[in-house]
Parts: sequence; C-alpha cells; structure tokens
Amino acid sequence: MNLPFEPYRIKVVERIHRVSRPERSRLLAEAGYNVFKIPSEAIYVDLLTDSGTGAMSDRQWAALMTGDEAYAQSRSWGEFESVVKDIFGYGHVIPTHQGRAAEGLLFAVAVKPGQVVPSNIHFDTTRANVEHVGGIALDCVDDQGLDPALEAPFKGDMSLAKLAAAFEKYGRDRIPLVMLTITNNSGGGQPVSLANIRAVSAFCREMGVPLIFDACRFAENAWFIQQREEAFREWSIPDICREVFSLGDGCTMSAKKDGLVNIGGFLCLNDDALALQVTNLLILREGFPTYGGLAGRDLAALAQGLREVMDPDYLAYRIGQVARLGGRLQELGVPFLKPAGGHAIYLDARAALPHIPQEQFPAQAFTAALYLEGGVRAVEIGSLMFDHRDPDTGKVVHPAMELVRLAVPRRVYTQTQLDYVAEVCARVVAEGERLRGLEITYQPPALRHFTAELQPVGGGDLMAGESV
Ligand SMILES: *Cc1c(COP(=O)(O)O)cnc(C)c1O
Repeated sequence: MNLPFEPYRIKVVERIHRVSRPERSRLLAEAGYNVFKIPSEAIYVDLLTDSGTGAMSDRQWAALMTGDEAYAQSRSWGEFESVVKDIFGYGHVIPTHQGRAAEGLLFAVAVKPGQVVPSNIHFDTTRANVEHVGGIALDCVDDQGLDPALEAPFKGDMSLAKLAAAFEKYGRDRIPLVMLTITNNSGGGQPVSLANIRAVSAFCREMGVPLIFDACRFAENAWFIQQREEAFREWSIPDICREVFSLGDGCTMSAKKDGLVNIGGFLCLNDDALALQVTNLLILREGFPTYGGLAGRDLAALAQGLREVMDPDYLAYRIGQVARLGGRLQELGVPFLKPAGGHAIYLDARAALPHIPQEQFPAQAFTAALYLEGGVRAVEIGSLMFDHRDPDTGKVVHPAMELVRLAVPRRVYTQTQLDYVAEVCARVVAEGERLRGLEITYQPPALRHFTAELQPVGGGDLMAGESV
C-alpha cells in the first residue's frame, strides 16, 4: 500500500464546524471577498497557510512546561542555539519572533537603496522587506519553474543564466547578497536541487557575494533531494541539511514552518561584523539576543520541533499526504501546478477559469468560491498578491501564474478531510463561467492581499444567477 502513514496517534482533538451555505455567502460578502477577514470559527478546513498552524507533539508540549524564562542566557536558549548550530552550522544564531523579522533585520543592515537582491522567487514578505529599504527584489527562477504543467523534479532551481545576467546588468557592487528559497514557496513549494545549490554557491563565491537561504522548509527540501537526486539517495536528512547550509553564508528562518511551532523564527549568519550590527538592531526591535521576540518556552518547543522535523517517517507522511491530495485532484480533473509541492498544492486558476482576465483576479475569485462552496479556506498567490510596477517603465506587471494555494498544516488534518477538499475544488471547477471576476474596492499601500476588499465586477453575486 502506498499510503501516507501517520507516524503518530492523536492525543488531543479540537472541535470544528461547518456553517451553512447562505451563512458562508453572507460572511464572504462582509469580508470583501477576502478570506483573510473571515472568522476562523466559520471555516471547516483551513488551508490558508501551513505557517504556525501545525500541531505540536507531546514532547513539545512538555518542553513548554520546562522552558527557562530567564531574561539572559536561559537554559532553553542554550538548548535552542545548540540544536540550530548542529543543523545549520552557522556561527551566529539570532532569534526573532518570526521569519519576516529576521528578513527585516538582515535587509535593514545589508541592503542599501537602489541595490538588487536576486532570489529564485522572493516570498511576499521577503520582497516587501527588500523594497521597504529601497532595494529591488529580483526573481531568477529557471523557466521550468514558471510552467505550471511541466513535471520536473526540481522546479525551484535558480537559473544561473538569469543570475549572471543580473550581475552583468546591475554590476557586482549593486548586489549585496543572493537569496535562495528552499523550498520555493511562491513558485509552488517546489524544491531546489543540491546540484543547483552547489552551482549557485560556486557562482556567489566567485563573485564574492554572500548566499543566504530562506530556509523555512529546509527539511522538506532535504527530503526531496534524498528522494529525487540520485547522488544523495543514501544520505541521511541531517547530512543533506548540513551539506546544503555549508554552501551558504547564513539563513533566514520562519520556525512556523519546519520548526513545527506556532510562532518563532531566527536568522543565522557567519559574518561577525554583520551579525553584530544585526544584533544591535535586534535589541532595539525584538529583544535581548538570547530570546529575540520569544519566550524561553517557545525556544524549548522549537528546539524539540527542529529535531522532530528531520524524522524520515514524519517527512514521508507529510509530503505523502500532500501528494495524495494532488492525486485526488488529478483524478477529478482539477488543474494544478505539477508536481505537487512539499507543503501545498497550487491550483492553476488561469487554466480552471480562462474566462476571467488577470485584471479581475481569477485566483482570488477561485479562492472566494472555495469558501462559498465548502467552507474551505485557501489563499490567492496571483495578481492580488504580486502585481507590481516595472522599475524601468513604471507599468503594472502581472505575475506569470495565477495560483490558489492549498497549504496543508503539519500533523493537523486527516485524509478524509483532504479528500473533501479535493471534492470542493472539483465543484468550483464545475461551476465554470458562472464564477465571476473581482474588482478592488479598498487596498493598502503594501502587502495588499492581507487587507484588500473586493467585489464581483460591477457588483452582484460571486456566482452568476445565485442571489445572496
Ligand atoms: C512564511 C515565509 C516567510 C515569512 O515568515 P513569517 O514567519 O511568516 O514572517 C518567508 N519566506 C518564506 C518562503 C515563507 O514561507
């Protein structure tokens, strides 16, 4: 049997409810067709994000009770620092309250206005933090990562040609660092191969520019390397992780992903001078260097989570569960980005809803319809999230893909619930041209997808012919 066997049994459960369709329709309109504004009690299966939504193990709950809350040099800090150094191998570990705080601190110190930061694809908070300090966030993913129908093992790989072209165009002095996102969240949760990491690393070292990993899903990426890259089939997950990180100069980490905790993050650096500057800013913004923005108990649970996440049985189950959801969608004819990602399935809204132009946010319309049809919450990764102005021409540029991400929280939902999600997706696709596009009625200046409000174009209902 090729099933994603759960390497655990359930000790605590949380009641969830399904609200009626008329109620969902009302809540959706009130939320401005933005599922970020719907109360979580009104959601049946919440696949908004895999960030901070995982279930902790009994050992992590136990660690919370034994956490040391000393302001400075707590035992929990010592434990956390030693686990992080063991996995990542960098000289300085800087705790933060989550990933974007680590990004904000790093870019505030390392990136000057007008400088350019290449990545495979910047995550939204990473892009926003680069732009916040006046930098330019440049995506250099290999073209295969932009073709949603292509089945390839490492669609998160960076294009060396695009990276070299960026150095050619902007000059080495305008590029303070290169980032590599593992796995590549905004490009479909697709992994980056160790061969590609080695090549990018060699290029950066030749240029004398540091390589910093966005390491949020480092264990999932390591699993894909072990499963899909012949040369590393016999390597253990910790050995693959150590090899990966030895090829860079630091990492930013949202522990809400592969840290298996509900809040937390950190920044690792080898450069002493840079780490000192970041630490001084950390004290100003987050807290003393041995706790950052976190309680001692958070650090203790995180240390335990980082050990658990590299368990091969856990990773086989985790990635197998997402792959099985992909298999169900395939059977039901729902288009999604191939192959299934490590933490999520990315539905292809342009393929599913060709009648809605990109100006009318097809992926956001699909996301709203998933809630209306089945109380399922997903998230748009398309033009609402990623429209931006071309730095040279000033024109609005739409992203290449219009995706709806079904992010699977770690150790939370059963296979039955995910089978239900697949059926809801199929029902939305079956609605076809009844589903209407959206227009914005309110938007903030940055990261607009979190708080923007929309309505069906010209007013009326999301599904033509259905009265609210
Ligand atoms: C979640 C995430 C971040 C930001 O982390 P937060 O903890 O949400 O601030 C950065 N990069 C990637 C790839 C992510 O998935």
